[in-house]
Amino acid sequence: MESIKSTNTIRLPETDLPRVVVIGGGFAGLSFVKKLKNKDFQVVMIDKNNFHQFQPLLYQVATSGIVPDSIAFPFRKQFKNYNNVFFRMADVTNINTEKKQVLTDIGHVHYDYLIIATGSDTNFFGLKDVQANSLGMKTIQEALDIRSMILQRFEKAVVTSDFATRDALTNFAVIGGGPAGVETVGAIAEFKKYILPKDYPDLDVSLMSIYLIESSDRLLSGMSEKSSEKSLKYLQELGVTVHLNTRVTSYDGLIIKTFNDKEFIAKSMIWTAGVTGNIPKGIDENCFARGNRLMVNEYSELKDHSNVYAIGDIASMVTKEYPYGHPMVAQTAIQQGDLLAKNLLNQIEGKGLKKFEYHDKGSLATVGKRKAVADIGKFKFGGYFAWILWSVVHLMSISGFKNKLFVGINWVWSYFTYDKGNRLIVRRYKRGDKE
Ligand SMILES: Cc1cc2nc3c(=O)[nH]c(=O)nc-3n(C[C@H](O)[C@H](O)[C@H](O)COP(=O)(O)OP(=O)(O)OC[C@H]3O[C@@H](n4cnc5c(N)ncnc54)[C@H](O)[C@@H]3O)c2cc1C
Repeated sequence: MESIKSTNTIRLPETDLPRVVVIGGGFAGLSFVKKLKNKDFQVVMIDKNNFHQFQPLLYQVATSGIVPDSIAFPFRKQFKNYNNVFFRMADVTNINTEKKQVLTDIGHVHYDYLIIATGSDTNFFGLKDVQANSLGMKTIQEALDIRSMILQRFEKAVVTSDFATRDALTNFAVIGGGPAGVETVGAIAEFKKYILPKDYPDLDVSLMSIYLIESSDRLLSGMSEKSSEKSLKYLQELGVTVHLNTRVTSYDGLIIKTFNDKEFIAKSMIWTAGVTGNIPKGIDENCFARGNRLMVNEYSELKDHSNVYAIGDIASMVTKEYPYGHPMVAQTAIQQGDLLAKNLLNQIEGKGLKKFEYHDKGSLATVGKRKAVADIGKFKFGGYFAWILWSVVHLMSISGFKNKLFVGINWVWSYFTYDKGNRLIVRRYKRGDKE
C-alpha cells in the first residue's frame, strides 16, 4: 500500500498545461473552477471536505428543519464532466510561495497559479471560556452538533426534577444579531412554539427563555434600519428576548456575563458574533489585513505575490467604496471567483484584465417560517412576500436538482404541518467534561 507522507507529491496526471491549484471549494473556489471547465489549465481543487456546503441554510440543519445532505454537494459529482479538473480531499497545512508548493496532510503539490479560497471561521475574539463552552455554526459538522445539543437538552430536562437545572437546560442564548443569529434564534423560537408541546407534553416549556444578545445598537446591521426594526419586532412576537448594546465577556457553560454586568442562565449558547479569515500557514504576514484576511488588489492578486490570488471571505480588497474590504457574503465570493477565472483566461490569451466591481443584488434574512426582511436596491420591505422571495432565492441557489427538490418538499411539508421532521440525535454532542 502507498504510504502517505507530507513529503510525497500528490499523485496527479502528467500535463503540459499550466496547473492552477485552488484551495477551498466554497462559493468562491467553486465559481472559479466552474468557469475553467475544460479550458487549457490543469485545475486541482483541494478541500478538507469532499463536498461543497451551502452555509446560508446551516441554521435549518441546526434546528432540525432539513437534513445535512440537502445542503451539501459532492465535489466529485460536480466535476464529473470536467476533463481538466482533479479533486483531492486534503487539509492544507502550509503554503511555500517561493517553491510554489502547497503542503497538505496527504502530500504536496506544485502550482503555476494558486487560488486561496479558504473562507472564514468563527471569531470568538479571544474569549477562551466562550469558545470552550459554546458552539459556532460555520460547518455542517457544527450544525449537526447544535442539532444534537438542542435535542439532548430537552431529553435531559424531561427527566430533571430540580427546577433551576431544568430551567438552565431549556434556556438558549444566541450571540450575534447578524443574519445567522437572527435566523437561528427565530427557528429555535418556532421549535418551542410548534414542536416542544407535541414532543414533550410532560415538560412545561412556558418558562423557557430564548435570548438574542447583540453588541451593537441594532440587529442586521448590514441591512437598512427598517429591516433592523422589523426583524426585532418579528423576533419579539415570536417570544425572543433581544438584548442590544450588550457584549458578552464570559461564559462558563451555565452563566453568561456581559460587560454591563448583566447575567443570563443557559446551558446552551450558539455563537454567531463574528468571523475571522482562515489564512493557511506560510503566507507572509505583510499580506495580512484587518479581520485576518489577505490583502489583494482589484484583480484579486495577493499583495507582492504574482500568480497567487485570494477570493471570497478570505480576501480583503480595499476600494474607495469598501475601505474595510467587501462584505463577507456569498455574492462577493461568487463574483470574485467568476471574474478571476475570466481574467486568467484573458491573461493567457493576451487580452486585457478587468477590475473587480461588486454588484450588490440585495440582502434577505428570514425570521421564522413566514416572515423575512428584504433590502433590494431602494426597496426595503418585510413580511410574507419577503419570505417567499427569500425561499425562492435560497432554493434556486442550492447546488443540485435533487437538493433543490428535497429542500422544497421539506419546506412545503413543514409550511402546512408546522413540523420539523429531522429530530434525530444520530451522534451525541459532548462538551468537554461539562456534559
Ligand atoms: C451560518 C451562516 C449563514 C450565512 N448566511 C448567508 C446568507 O444568507 N447570504 C450570504 O450571502 N452569505 C451568507 N453567509 C456567508 C457566506 O456563506 C460566505 O460569505 C461564503 O460561504 C464565503 O465563501 P468562500 O468560498 O469564501 O468560503 P467558504 O464557503 O467558507 O468555503 C471555504 C472552503 O475552504 C475549505 N477549507 C478551508 N480551510 C481549508 C484547508 N486548510 N484545507 C482545505 N480546505 C480548506 C473549507 O472546507 C470550505 O469548503 C453565511 C455564513 C454562515 C456561516
